[in-house]
Amino acid sequence: MIEEFLAGNRRFVDEEFNKNVDFYSDLSNSQQPKILWIGCSDSRVSEDVITSSKPGSIFVHRNIANIVAFNDINIASIIEYAVTHLKIPDIIVCGHYNCGGVQAMLEGVEEHYIADWLLIASGAIAKAKQVADEMKLSRKEHLDLLSEENVKLQIKHLRGLSLIRNLHKKGSLPRIHGWIYSVESGEINVLVDGYNHEA
Ligand SMILES: [Zn+2]
Repeated sequence: MIEEFLAGNRRFVDEEFNKNVDFYSDLSNSQQPKILWIGCSDSRVSEDVITSSKPGSIFVHRNIANIVAFNDINIASIIEYAVTHLKIPDIIVCGHYNCGGVQAMLEGVEEHYIADWLLIASGAIAKAKQVADEMKLSRKEHLDLLSEENVKLQIKHLRGLSLIRNLHKKGSLPRIHGWIYSVESGEINVLVDGYNHEA
């Protein structure tokens, strides 16, 4: 029920906020997040919980299947604010296994908006299908591969945005990292190492 969330907030105030008044007082004046997180809306993939991060650390954009869309002014404005104003040096695109969005990519979906949205990942669908056919992957392996290929494709989209492309042309930040989270083990694996990627 919804009351449990308000009760949870009261516990947060008593057990966390009021015990770290200096930290939250500093934070109330300004934010200096260290990363921009582009993740899935899935309720099991809470970026601050799975990275043991406090408020103020992560600037966040989440959508179905952690997609970077060229024509999405929402994500574009978040990236622009993160990079230009907050000067965030690292962007992480974090996908996850057992993703309902990725499953819908593979199986198709009836709902109009969701189908349109997932079309943006069609390059990853084709790539994963080709490998799955060649390697005779199980359905679970195919889905896991598609989750990974989707992260790589969204990084390609991110690098292709004119804002990012122009910064990289000048040799400037941000670094772009690709991660994948396992809802079964709680672990994050690095798919794309932003420190070693050629801009
Ligand atoms: Zn998901």
